[in-house]
Amino acid sequence: MPQLSNRVMTFTDSVIRRMTRISEEYDAINLSQGYPDWDPPREITDALAQVAGEGPHQYSITFGAKNLREALCKIESERFGRTVDPEQEIVITCGSTEAMMTCMMTVCNPGDKVVIFSPFYENYGADTILSGADPIFVPLTPPEYSFDRAQLAEACSQPGVKALILCNPSNPCGKVFKRDELEFIASLAKKYDFYVVTDEVYEYIVFDDHEHICMASLPGMFERTLTCNSLSKTYSITGWRLGYVIGNAEAIEAARKVHDFLTVGAAAPIQEAACRAIEAFGPDYYAGVKQEYQEKRDLFVKGLDAIGIPHSNPEGTYFIMVDITKYLELPQFAGMSDLEFCEWMIRNIGVAAVPGSSFFREPINHLIRLHFARSESVLNDALSRLSKMADLLK
Ligand code: GLN
Repeated sequence: MPQLSNRVMTFTDSVIRRMTRISEEYDAINLSQGYPDWDPPREITDALAQVAGEGPHQYSITFGAKNLREALCKIESERFGRTVDPEQEIVITCGSTEAMMTCMMTVCNPGDKVVIFSPFYENYGADTILSGADPIFVPLTPPEYSFDRAQLAEACSQPGVKALILCNPSNPCGKVFKRDELEFIASLAKKYDFYVVTDEVYEYIVFDDHEHICMASLPGMFERTLTCNSLSKTYSITGWRLGYVIGNAEAIEAARKVHDFLTVGAAAPIQEAACRAIEAFGPDYYAGVKQEYQEKRDLFVKGLDAIGIPHSNPEGTYFIMVDITKYLELPQFAGMSDLEFCEWMIRNIGVAAVPGSSFFREPINHLIRLHFARSESVLNDALSRLSKMADLLK
């Protein structure tokens, strides 16, 4: 048989999605792949039912239905502090997964370099490879997940750097980048002339006094930022696969070509249903999303503290990093990898997590990621299962 491409030999399948498959096999509580276990708002499901009867059922315009582009640009114009033009500055994609891949294919030539913070959402590694670029990793150091400015500047100054990927709020570590950190990254982007490709899918999921700031809203940054976003998290419709990229007209014109040849377009009835619902939502809806996730984070953090499981302090997203160092020191876990520990957890505790090593470039083996996008009763059930794990240390 002829060999498959070298490209596909250089990365594995997604560990996040793999953990979901194993979790389902053992009927565990799945706190690995992050998605909500509740239904989307009624406005959304009602709109979907209406659209089933009324259509459209044929292709929409390849770069996104006009009414959905307009609705999204209206929302984003406020967040960006400038008018975003639905005719020229947005392309609607099949989820932000395609949005990110499209951006990488739009911006990078083979051999270009892309700066990525570590830990990082695992897709970025594969996206970079698929676009032919080489990643340069810069650590976000636990427990604060802060970065060293000199180290970031050194990485960005390397010849061939074309882009930096910024996940804000950040999956998996829950960091929300502060204004001065964003300004520093922006100053490097200008100085060394590269794009910032952002992933802002958790923009409404921020806690306490933390504030999500769009990189594209900083002075002079709209022109060199490609903002990837998604409807998945904000409207609890991860299966609808609706995302988008916003950027300057020239970059978006190129991104639309990539998107067109990759997918032709996102599903037309889904775009129509999403548009009808989004138009009905006001600021209360978004405040509600924030409030709901704040309550879940508080419940889960309090529960982990009560049973004595050390963890990160997420400022945003619905992810939390749990420290398993003490377990790995027990004789029954001697020599185990974090992946093996997660498999043990699924089988013996009934809770699925993602091994931290799938997010870190550094050889980290003592952190695992859990998410709390689950109903209160499921979170309580998960906590009671996790308390059995905590008992092992007593
Ligand atoms: N962003 C989610 C996570 O990190 C899931 C994304 C996906 O699997 N497509 O768990």
